[in-house]
Amino acid sequence: MSQNHAQPPVQSPVVPNLLGLDDIIQFDCHKGISCFNACCKQADVTLTPYDIIRLKNRLGMSSTEFLKQYTAPFEMDSSGMPGVKLRARDEEPVCLLMTGEGCSVYDDRPSTCRYYPVGLMAMRPSNAPKEEHHYCLVEEPHCKGHQEARKLSVAEYRKEQGVEAYDNMNREWYQIILKRRSAGPAVGKPSPTSFQFFFLCSYDVDRFREFTRTESFRNTYALSDDEFSSFNDDATLLKFGYRLMMQVLFGEASIPLREGALEERIEKRREIHQARRELEIELHRQKQDPYQNPGEG
Ligand code: SF4
Ligand code: SF4
Repeated sequence: MSQNHAQPPVQSPVVPNLLGLDDIIQFDCHKGISCFNACCKQADVTLTPYDIIRLKNRLGMSSTEFLKQYTAPFEMDSSGMPGVKLRARDEEPVCLLMTGEGCSVYDDRPSTCRYYPVGLMAMRPSNAPKEEHHYCLVEEPHCKGHQEARKLSVAEYRKEQGVEAYDNMNREWYQIILKRRSAGPAVGKPSPTSFQFFFLCSYDVDRFREFTRTESFRNTYALSDDEFSSFNDDATLLKFGYRLMMQVLFGEASIPLREGALEERIEKRREIHQARRELEIELHRQKQDPYQNPGEG
């Protein structure tokens, strides 16, 4: 396999039939192939939470810095669910992580790059208890790998590309996205705050860690010192973030709250609400009574 694999671009001709793990595909990719690097041009790589952890650690930077330097935001669906993509060079659509020798982060390349030309589709049929994963094959004219003689199953291909670890780390995240989508418009458009929260837990693990160290977080959740220490590990923190999203966004509680924390927060919100209201009344009163504001008008 060459060191260059990219997510299927939007217009790519996806072979329409769904594939299972035992289905056989005909494909090979190696350094001497005539299309070497072609797939990393026009790369359209959507990043998953675990992709970001692997890449930011590979590049020796924080997730916040990585997001700023290497990614571009986009909306994953019509509700505006935030997603991030790898940014391409401005002058030509080539992935920022590609060099003349190929992918500069090959051992930590994103799962989309690993899967290509196989596409992963997570879906949840209405009568199914949990989501199902299906695969499809993307055949683009520039990719000559389909003309190679090698045949292997989708399961063998996944193993060869090392996608299992990525899928294991991202599984609950896919469930959160599907859960949000299956809730549909009936529950209303999610608030900007819930999207910011989703972004923080999903993509910006280092900033999320800072959030778990704040006084208000520690006063809210009843976690042991050992549990807080385990958050030094990115993967552990990411998994905790999935639980927190399920709890905050869907009410599926698995993280214990400190006694009285909920009441305290409600009281604090009530105080803020009351203070805002008093301020509004005062501003309104000042507008009505020009003698209170001799400087105005
Ligand atoms: S991350 Fe690597 S494999 Fe993926 S598009 Fe960029 S250069 Fe290609
Ligand atoms: S065979 Fe396909 S995946 Fe491999 S380098 Fe060529 S275009 Fe990329």
